[in-house]
Amino acid sequence: MPSPWAGFEEDLARRRDAGRPALFWWRDDDAAGPTPEISRLLELSRSAEVPLALAVVPQAAQAALFRLLHARVAVLQHGGDHHNRAGPGEKKTEFPAAEREEEALARIAAGRERLESLAGTWLMPVFAPPWNRLRGALAARLPQLGLRGLSTFGPRPPQPPAPALVQVNTHVDIVAWHAGRGFIGEEQALAIARRQLDALSGEPTGWLTHHAVHDAACWAFLERLFEVTRRAGGSWAHPQSVFVPAAG
Ligand SMILES: [Zn+2]
Repeated sequence: MPSPWAGFEEDLARRRDAGRPALFWWRDDDAAGPTPEISRLLELSRSAEVPLALAVVPQAAQAALFRLLHARVAVLQHGGDHHNRAGPGEKKTEFPAAEREEEALARIAAGRERLESLAGTWLMPVFAPPWNRLRGALAARLPQLGLRGLSTFGPRPPQPPAPALVQVNTHVDIVAWHAGRGFIGEEQALAIARRQLDALSGEPTGWLTHHAVHDAACWAFLERLFEVTRRAGGSWAHPQSVFVPAAG
């Protein structure tokens, strides 16, 4: 069976040669403090020269994390406390349907304040809710808290939840959460990425990773992905250039 990498690389090269290079961005979730996995993640971003949006849990964040960052990294706000408050029959979420809006917003605002004081200029005004879930009514009120961006999972809706909000999602989650939390496999990861590239949605294709649970295959995949995209002319956008309001 041919390696899925060959087809992926050809696809990228075709797009490059047609003057429409594939555009990717990378978000990693659940950062809090300095760990060996965080160091590995940051070193990978540095050595591969691939920008990284690091989604940090405000209430768990430690000052020492931000001393490890480098110029290709930006910090996003990953919820408030990242506790699962899902009600019966609800999927995991920090922001359950039963919670009062004001209560949820107060927690988001407190998280933002805490990250502002810890992360300083590393922080972007972008909210990435835990488990990629935030109901529309809450999302629409994020700009009231000074947030300008939203990032969840899957194709973004045609219109953002609020005019002042730029939504840029992730599309390829490399962890098989419901099958042992290992790597989903090269074939599947690359196929999802190619489908998203084909969708021509104008949205950069977002890779979602979770450094704390990566097995060896996840790390090896990322290394190879960065190598292949570099060789075949795919480009990786810095988060600062991803969350920019559309012109016009
Ligand atoms: Zn998370």
